[in-house]
This record gives sequence, structure tokens and C-alpha cells, in this order.
Amino acid sequence: MIVILKKNASKESFSELRTKIESLGMTIHESQGEETLLWGLVGDTSKINIDQLRANDVVAEVRRIQEPYKATNRRMHPEDTVVDIGGVKIGGGNFQVIAGPCSIETAEQISEVARRVKGAGAGLLRGGAFKPRTSPYAFQGLEDEGLRLLLHAKEVTGLPIVTELMGTSDIGLFRDVDLIQIGARNMQNFRLLKEVGKLKTPILLKRGMSNTIEEWLMSAEYIMAGGNENVILCERGIRTFETAYRNTLDISAIPMLKEKTHLPVVVDPSHAAGIRNMVEPLSMAAIAAGADGLMIEVHNNPAVALCDGPQSITPDAFDTLMEKIRKTVSFFGKNM
Ligand code: PEP
Ligand code: MN
Repeated sequence: MIVILKKNASKESFSELRTKIESLGMTIHESQGEETLLWGLVGDTSKINIDQLRANDVVAEVRRIQEPYKATNRRMHPEDTVVDIGGVKIGGGNFQVIAGPCSIETAEQISEVARRVKGAGAGLLRGGAFKPRTSPYAFQGLEDEGLRLLLHAKEVTGLPIVTELMGTSDIGLFRDVDLIQIGARNMQNFRLLKEVGKLKTPILLKRGMSNTIEEWLMSAEYIMAGGNENVILCERGIRTFETAYRNTLDISAIPMLKEKTHLPVVVDPSHAAGIRNMVEPLSMAAIAAGADGLMIEVHNNPAVALCDGPQSITPDAFDTLMEKIRKTVSFFGKNM
């Protein structure tokens, strides 16, 4: 971190600031130019309150050189992290497809979709029991009963399950969930992030629809700082000026994340597009860009789906897509 100081401040105010910075375990390298006085701060600058530093009367400007995230930073951990979800591995060359309906609707629906996605070769089963809906009048999910049906599908198929946790009060119900999803709308629900940070269960952290990569990594940092190192990032499209599709899939985020973090990156083309016919091309693009997995919505009868029917593909379409995914994943040198 570089601190640019105001030239004409008093010696006392400089030394007061120096003492304060050094008390945080930082070393200061001073460089006196003709016009400016610079301090290079060396040490763990994540402890520094940058706004407080900027607010100091003798400080003209503060520039961060290092990223504010540590545990998620690839500099601190050069090897790819491999997350193990009940024996199913994601990351470090291991590719997985997570598939299932947007929400669990009936016992028949979830068991039929589970059987079909398992048959097609999906590694994990998804399904929402607690749904974050824009309208309070829309279907909110089967909640506890939905979770029970999903756990039953896990028992029958042997597939590890992924489902969204919306609030800290439901955490007790998620004991047997293999991968807990934190949805886009909760990416910066810091109390929720702290709570899941206390668990050992792997976390699928979706990107908030208007969040930067740095904010996303800082949210992952919350979970990791709590002791839970099993975090998978999920790019699900961001809000842009474009209205032709539900969101804009930020393909660029994948190679950027690969540089900045060691955590696995999964892409959700279903929520990114909101349109069934775009799921395949976006899946191919995600694999080519370096994703470690895909999350795809599959419904046995999309026309009557209670949530996200237009973006859901049928089990037959999923069979065909899985063939293409397998070929593409192997072309790009990953295991599936
Ligand atoms: C979902 O996965 O069903 C979902 C609600 O996703 P997102 O949080 O990305 O909107
Ligand atoms: Mn959905």
C-alpha cells in the first residue's frame, strides 16, 4: 500500500501517523521526492482501515497495490483448490455437471429428474426448496418438505445434493446437504456468509448480479476467514444494459478468476440466459474459457414448471447436451 503525504504537514502529525501504522505491525519505507513524500507500507495491509487513513489530515492519497483478499488469493495458494463433495471432486482438472430443476415441486418431479440426470452422467443433483422470488405472491418453494424430497432423491440416486440456504435460521435443516448454495441475492449477506464459514460443508457462492469480481472474492473471503475452505464460485450472469436475455454471462470472469484465485469456478448458463436454446452454446463457451463445472436446470415438463420453465431443458435435451459437454471437456484436457 502506498500512502502519499501532504508536504506541508507538521513533523508531529507525521510521527503520530507513523506510530499508528507501525503499531499495526507494518513497516514503512519512506521515499522523499521533490514534490511529494511517499510511504510504502509493507506487511499485512488487510488490517488497515483505508477510509480512516484517507480521512487523516496529513494524507493526500492512498493506493492499494495488493488485493484486499488473502485466503482466496492465488498468490497465497498457487495450486488449484479441489473441493470434495461427498467423494465428487471439482477443481484442479476435475470437471462436474450439477443438474436438476430450479425448484422441487412434487415427489414425482424430483425423483424423475434425479433419475434422468444421474443416467446422463451428472455428478450432482440440484433443486431449490427455499426459493428467492422477486414477488412474494410467486411460488416460494416447498421449503422443509422440498428438502425432505431432495434428500430422498439423494438416497435413491446416490448423487450428492446442492440446494440454496436463504437465511441463518434454516441452517439446522441443511445438515445432510452436500453443497450449500448461497444465491446471487445473498452474495453480500455477511451474517449468512459468517455462519456458513463455521461449517465444514462445501459452499457454492453465486455471484451477485451487480457485483464486481473483487466484491465476490471478498464474500468468499468471509467464508474462508471463518474456517470453511471449501468454496466454489458460480458465475450466473450479471445485469447489463442488454435486455434480450435474462442476464449477461460474464465469460471474461472465468479466466480472470483463474488468475486471481485458486477456488474452482462453475458456470450457470441457465440463469445467465433465461432462455433454453442458449444453454448449450453458453455451456461450450464456459468450458472453453476454463470453467471447472456447469450448473444446468433440467425439468421433466418445463411448460408446467413453477419456476424458471423458459430456461429449463428436458431430460432428453440434457442427454444430448451431456454428450457434447463430455467431448468438449475432454478436448480441453479436464477429467469428467
Ligand atoms: C437458482 O439457482 O435457482 C437461483 C435462484 O439462482 P441465482 O441466485 O443465481 O438467481
Ligand atoms: Mn432457477
